[in-house]
Amino acid sequence: MATDKNLLSRTRAAVWHPCTQMKELDATPPLAVARGEGPWLVDTEGRRYLDAISSWWVNLFGHCNPRINAAITDQLGKIEHVMLAGATHEPVVELSERLARLTGLGHAFYGSDGASATEIALKMSAHFWRNTGLPEKNGFVSLKNGYHGETLGALSVTDIPLFKSTYAPLLRHTMQVPTPDARLAAPGESAEAYALRCADALEAHLAVHAATTAAFIVEPLVQGAAGMAMYHPAYLKRARELCTRHRVHLIADEIAVGFGRTGTLFACEQANIRPDFICLSKGITGGYLPLAAVLTTDAVYAAFYGDATARGFLHSHSYTGNPLACRAALAVLDLFEHDDVIAANRVKADEFSGILAAVAAHPRVRHFRHLGMIWAFEATDASAGFSARFHRAALAHGVFLRPIGHTVYVMPPYVTTADDMRGLAKAVLACLDDPAV
Ligand SMILES: *Cc1c(COP(=O)(O)O)cnc(C)c1O
Repeated sequence: MATDKNLLSRTRAAVWHPCTQMKELDATPPLAVARGEGPWLVDTEGRRYLDAISSWWVNLFGHCNPRINAAITDQLGKIEHVMLAGATHEPVVELSERLARLTGLGHAFYGSDGASATEIALKMSAHFWRNTGLPEKNGFVSLKNGYHGETLGALSVTDIPLFKSTYAPLLRHTMQVPTPDARLAAPGESAEAYALRCADALEAHLAVHAATTAAFIVEPLVQGAAGMAMYHPAYLKRARELCTRHRVHLIADEIAVGFGRTGTLFACEQANIRPDFICLSKGITGGYLPLAAVLTTDAVYAAFYGDATARGFLHSHSYTGNPLACRAALAVLDLFEHDDVIAANRVKADEFSGILAAVAAHPRVRHFRHLGMIWAFEATDASAGFSARFHRAALAHGVFLRPIGHTVYVMPPYVTTADDMRGLAKAVLACLDDPAV
């Protein structure tokens, strides 16, 4: 484990780390990272760790990717940033055009982090209904155990008590419908049958609440923060039909699952649906720079277009459409195209699943599941503190992993090799076999 004592004491004193009880840093010091190469993180002592969760799901093509580095460096010599109100630039225009072609949604609004994309989509949806004479349609419905970010609006549609309960008095009331999470299927019930049963619950909800509901927001196919809960695409197909029938927007939060994580460029493709809004962030810049995009339909865009200023979407962030971030995103799209990454990942995922078969068969492993470039399982007998113990044990074996509660998951950068994966499987098995974990 990293032992740059000086850096660790300075970080404890000066940096307030995210999603962390700072007192726990004594027992679990953060990894002191000096540099990265491909899927590897290198600490200040030169030790290497496989970044098996893509630095919180953002990294796609490895650290210090030469092609993304080159794009950003080139842009640095031109213009680093200019405000996007009253100005425009080639990178943001080209990125918007290309995202429109890929999603079928022709209008792109930008933010910085995933949570800002959620805020934009929620505000835009409610404002659309106001502009179309239905201001009472301003409520939101989301899935049980869903996660959409941690600013107040995003937290209102999130359903993770650990993140939400403390701030409940600050939040707007929203409603949750049952999650199609396949782990919750009844004994003998298929994932698809369970998904459709949950869609019936959504239908019942919308039948009562559609008149006061602006949008249904959903993480397509995988609820990441819930512990990589996976579900059948039939749910999304039905949700699309129900939202259309009840005149409620469908917001696809592809912040985590977009850019190939589920095996298609966007998860919605597997249900063959087009949402009214798609939220993108995380992988959009390959894990390089903060950028978020919300794409929407011509119909939504048209409802804001007019002579009255207040009819427009008067929302902004200082770094909206930052040129460096847009160039990183364009380099990412180039990589997907030129290297045919989706097809290559399909082959890679099969190979990785084979390598992880020994993990799936381990007696402590339950609900082993896989979709695209995500693998997850629960440790059956995990006791309090499992996540931190597993994290520390994995580090000792050269792997950077952070289980969510009892759920261990792997979401590697796409440049991870079969050899890297064999090392990871060995490390995970060693952690599972360690009686102290
Ligand atoms: C991470 C995440 C967000 C929030 O993104 P931030 O960049 O952390 O604000 C929103 N929705 C989903 C599904 C996420 O995984």
